[in-house]
Amino acid sequence: MEENDLLLSGIQHFAFCRRQWALIHMEQLWAENVWTADGHFFHQRTHDETLTELRGNLLITRGLRVRSNRLKVTGVCDVVEFHASPDGVPLAGRQGLWQPYPVEYKRGAPKEHDADELQLCCQAMCLEEMLACSVPEGSLYYGEPRRRVKVIFSHELRAKVEDMLSAMHQHLQRGHIPNVRPHKGCRACSLQELCLPKLNKPISVYDYLNAYMEEGGL
Ligand code: SF4
Repeated sequence: MEENDLLLSGIQHFAFCRRQWALIHMEQLWAENVWTADGHFFHQRTHDETLTELRGNLLITRGLRVRSNRLKVTGVCDVVEFHASPDGVPLAGRQGLWQPYPVEYKRGAPKEHDADELQLCCQAMCLEEMLACSVPEGSLYYGEPRRRVKVIFSHELRAKVEDMLSAMHQHLQRGHIPNVRPHKGCRACSLQELCLPKLNKPISVYDYLNAYMEEGGL
């Protein structure tokens, strides 16, 4: 990892809540909750770097490290499948040509926002730069229900990844931690106690006076 590189996994934090991303990636804060702990367990097998399998025309690699010099981002892919294809690229120590196809594993169900798609697309953009090839699509594998969802890496999705990475770099350079903006996702956020969204909510005059009286102020 180069100095000033962003962590690729931060894309999903940034898409979910910019403040969460800043607390984790700039302030180095982290707190486990049942969702994050479950997520780590779910990822354990996919990140076992000793697992590389050849199944006929399909080579499966796990825990492949990727980086983009242009985007200044680095990370680890859960799974990258390499399909034997005349349109593919040569791989060291393997005969023939192989087309990369990233697969990212997610514990839960498909989400309302596109954080997972953005993370996967960023992996594909890193693979393209590293292998000098084109990676037009990949898949997200969801644990609930157990199924794959194909993702096409469109121009729009790629542009959104670039915009997001650019905003993340700007936050890093300015050392800026975004303010609390409570939203419904806060309830599942593992940083809730550290972020303290309730303390930053405007308090009504009624609640303020009640709290003041309870403390013996009147
Ligand atoms: S508690 Fe809410 S505002 Fe705070 S970091 Fe988590 S999601 Fe963001």
